[in-house]
Amino acid sequence: MALTFFDHRNKRIFETSPEKDAQIDLGTYHVDSDTRRIEDSRYDLLFSVNSQVAFPKCKGLPATLPILYQTRKPDFDSFAYRVHDDFLVEIINTSETLDLRDAMKSPGQPLLGAEIPYNPRKAEDALAWAGVFSLKKLSRREMKRAIAIVDERWGGDWSPYCVVPWEKGTKKSTMIQLEWVQPFGQNASFSCPDWRRRCKEGFFGTPTLPLILYEESPEMNLFGDFNPQLIITYCRRCRTIGVVNQCD
Ligand SMILES: [Zn+2]
Repeated sequence: MALTFFDHRNKRIFETSPEKDAQIDLGTYHVDSDTRRIEDSRYDLLFSVNSQVAFPKCKGLPATLPILYQTRKPDFDSFAYRVHDDFLVEIINTSETLDLRDAMKSPGQPLLGAEIPYNPRKAEDALAWAGVFSLKKLSRREMKRAIAIVDERWGGDWSPYCVVPWEKGTKKSTMIQLEWVQPFGQNASFSCPDWRRRCKEGFFGTPTLPLILYEESPEMNLFGDFNPQLIITYCRRCRTIGVVNQCD
């Protein structure tokens, strides 16, 4: 696995894959470090994502979404930017504007992918993607099965694995909803990436969605021996793209 795309509108998941059945055109991997260079800037264009395929009807995203990071100087800090006019990107921390027109047109490797099966009502599937789509669709019976699966992984006492200081007697069906964050390594609580705005959580939950997960793979090695997850997030309110890293 290298890149996983989350279509929140239709609850679909796409993964890039070198296999022959990968037919869905998810964008471009700007594979070569020379073509990745954006003139002399510190920012690397890693991927151009076909957002109409990967995230249909997600308001405010450009048709081709550029994914940037600083792979040449990977301090693994969080990183935020906003896309204007498809090719112009504003870096939030420094207020720089980058023109990606040439970088995005440079030849790259196609990101071909396939949809992976996902049933939010099935314990195994819901657990695998709980950090993205939550466990809310599980029936009482499937929630029981989900708890049994986590019991097998964590043992009966979950306290060594919990981040939240739960009171004694808290139901496991409550704990699991906050503590089980797969596929993410550390947490699934994403806030607005623009520190100047910090868009507040709305009535229906956070406006910031995880859009893409990068995990190291032989086909797409960005960081050598380091093996972080990169999570591309999107604030639907102020339309800021964030890149967050986590470790397994
Ligand atoms: Zn925001």
